Formats: sequence, C-alpha cells, structure tokens
Amino acid sequence: MTTPPTNFIGINVSGLHVRAALVDEHGSIIEGRIAGVAKELIPQLAAMVEDLRSLPGSVAAIGVAVPGLVNRQTDRVISPGDLPSNVVEDIHGQLMNATGLRVEIENDANAAAYGEFKVGAGRGSHSMFYMMIGDGIGGAIIIDGKLFTGTSGFAGEVGHITIDTEGMQCVCGNTGCLETVASAPSIVRRARERLNRDSTSSLSRLALNKTFTAVDVAHQANEGDDFALMMIERTGKYIGTGVASVINLLNIERIVLGGGVMDAGSLILNPIIQEVKRRAFQPCFDATEIVAAKLGYDAAPIGAAMLARDAAIN
Ligand SMILES: [Zn+2]
Repeated sequence: MTTPPTNFIGINVSGLHVRAALVDEHGSIIEGRIAGVAKELIPQLAAMVEDLRSLPGSVAAIGVAVPGLVNRQTDRVISPGDLPSNVVEDIHGQLMNATGLRVEIENDANAAAYGEFKVGAGRGSHSMFYMMIGDGIGGAIIIDGKLFTGTSGFAGEVGHITIDTEGMQCVCGNTGCLETVASAPSIVRRARERLNRDSTSSLSRLALNKTFTAVDVAHQANEGDDFALMMIERTGKYIGTGVASVINLLNIERIVLGGGVMDAGSLILNPIIQEVKRRAFQPCFDATEIVAAKLGYDAAPIGAAMLARDAAIN
C-alpha cells in the first residue's frame, strides 16, 4: 500500500487579495485560489483551507505570508505601516484553532524570498538577498539556506535604508528611505512632479494620462518614450544604490529582485546592475549574481508552504 502524498497550503494575504495554494512537498502548485480580502479574514482563510483540503492527498501544515512585520517570539503581526486592519490580529492562533492544523506565519517578503530560494531564481545558491519592489519595498536575507530574520523577526527591511538624507518623510518615520523614491507609488509621484515643472517632458505620452501608474511608466518606457525611460533608469539607480550597500555588508552570492516594479525587465535591471558596479566594493560585486525573480505572485504562497514544510522537519 502506498502512502498518500503529503502536501502543504501556502497563503499570501495582501492589501487587496488572498492567494491560497495547495503545494506539493517539492514546491509545485497543485491548485490555486484567489479572492478579495473579506471583512472577516479568519473564517475566509479557514474556508479556503477546507476547500483545498478536500483535494486528494493530506495536508500537513499551513504557511501564511502577511504584509507586516511578524514578531518571531509571539507570532503576532505588528507594523506601523498601512495594513488592512483585519491582518493586525492573532492570525497564527486563530487559524490553528479554526483548522486544527499547524500554522507558520511569516512576513510576505521573507516568504517570497524563501519561495524563490527553494524553487525560483535563488535555486542552487547558498546565500541570497531578496528585494520585493512594489507598493512598498521589502527585503529578506537567506544565509546558508536559512532565513535570517534577526533578533525579533524584522531583518531585511531594505526599503528603509536611507538613500537621501534630505529626502521625503517615509511611513516609518525616517526621511529619504529607498521606499520614498523607488516604490511604485514613489515612481508615479516623481514622474508627476517632473511633468509639472519641466515643459519638455510634456512630449511624454504620460502627460496625456491623468491617472497613470508605475505599470504605465514601465509600459511607455518599453514603447521608447524618453521621459518614461529616464524615470525607470533613475529608479534603477536608486535601487542599485541600496543593493550596493547590501552587497558590501553581506558579500552575498545572489541578489534576487522581484515585485511589480521589476516588470520593466532589462530596462530597470541593467541600470540597477550598472549602479551597483559603480558603487559596490569590486571584489564583493564580482562575487555576486544579480537576477530578476522568477515566480511572480506565486513566490509568497509557495514560500509560505515551504516554510511550513521545513518547520516540520527542523
Ligand atoms: Zn522608511
């Protein structure tokens, strides 16, 4: 008699969506679900778990990735950021009670990093730094195959590295953080400011669109719009400045860059690499590979499932 395969459930709660996936022990998604975030989060997550559990095979544990800092000592979500209010609660304890399964909870950038490390762009490396550049900028450190979460679980917050000492106020309370210039909303803000004060930029197609997003900036850059291209290149320079500091600090084997802003592809990856080369200590730069992430939105649910799997082993 053969034993049925053991699977894991990986869940990613973001500001807008909940993604849940049944993941096999090797990190492949068997079946995925996506839904808007319900007012009552725990019953919603429990129902998604029940639905995925009804599929063949047994589920050993659940991993949940959340857009906030997770205190490793208490497993509670804390963050000064703008989290959906229903995320700032005891997801860990309540979901265990609701499902009867073991639950691991982790910051979304950490979970996505672990997914990329196990089955995506970080595969085969021993140490890796992951940066998620989207509505915010998150980061995660993997050393010798293990997530390094710091003393209380908050390591890797690269979005709050100071890039401009005279810069704008950040949500964290500091000024001039990387996130204030290179996150998706910051790209839009910088582009708008420039369109307002520089008449030559009105030739840009972005000037015709009152409600453009960072995706539109990337799209116009890909279409050859000079102004959009310049905005993307400058964003790459800011990110590269942050990455250079990471490389100097950690002498890490691989840097994996993910999140919506990286959808601009080589238009942003190349200026990032150039800026890192210009700023990082040469021997550290030579030892580092800088690559784009591979798993997209699947990184966090897969990573959360793999963290649940590996917590069972350790
Ligand atoms: Zn900050």
